[in-house]
Amino acid sequence: MRLILLGPPGAGKGTQAKRLEETRGLVQLSTGDMLRAAVASGSPLGQQAKRVMEAGELMPDEIIIDMIAERIERPDCRNGFVLDGFPRTTRQAAALDQMLEGKKANLDAVIELAVDEGALIERISGRFSCAKCGAGYHEKFKRPKVEGVCDVCGSTEFSRRKDDNAETVAARLEAYRGQTAPILPYYEERGLLRRVDGMADVDEVMRQIEAVLASV
Ligand code: AMP
Repeated sequence: MRLILLGPPGAGKGTQAKRLEETRGLVQLSTGDMLRAAVASGSPLGQQAKRVMEAGELMPDEIIIDMIAERIERPDCRNGFVLDGFPRTTRQAAALDQMLEGKKANLDAVIELAVDEGALIERISGRFSCAKCGAGYHEKFKRPKVEGVCDVCGSTEFSRRKDDNAETVAARLEAYRGQTAPILPYYEERGLLRRVDGMADVDEVMRQIEAVLASV
């Protein structure tokens, strides 16, 4: 199964993609995670990504397209994948179509996580994750069961994304509205777009996604 999760920052794409990885064995392809790994490595690409991400802007299409084209060819993607954070522009969407055509593969569904923008700032500004295993938490909605200890791996170190501050989030939302939302009609016209309520709690969103997947 090949899926795209679409939605603004903070809609829950990463959380749901990780769940689909666990429940369906799909590979999560997150361009944001790939760029954060590049930033951590200190490579020239990472240095560029750091500037762009901290400004809440988008990386150039060619770089992102090459990154995904290389990743999608790896054997683990053969059993299916869930794209999280890609495509983000009409050019990226067209490039993805070409990649899939070349592999004689098609998309099964594009799932939009529809959210109320007013809630996003609170969602994003409260989130943090385990520095060791990456498990996600939220100051208000999902604290670790034992304060200061990761539920999953027991680590006591946590980190926050540098671009999860109010100013950068405003720019990221602007990029979503201007450059990413316009690709929704592109998939709608092809009958691929399905909408789920991204404002529901995590389990309910997952249930709605599963219902979509059962119907495709
Ligand atoms: P995310 O983790 O998906 O919220 O992405 C974090 C940041 O990485 C974004 O705000 C962009 O600066 C950059 N980024 C991630 N994916 C893409 C993409 N497909 N195209 C351009 N920039 C991206």
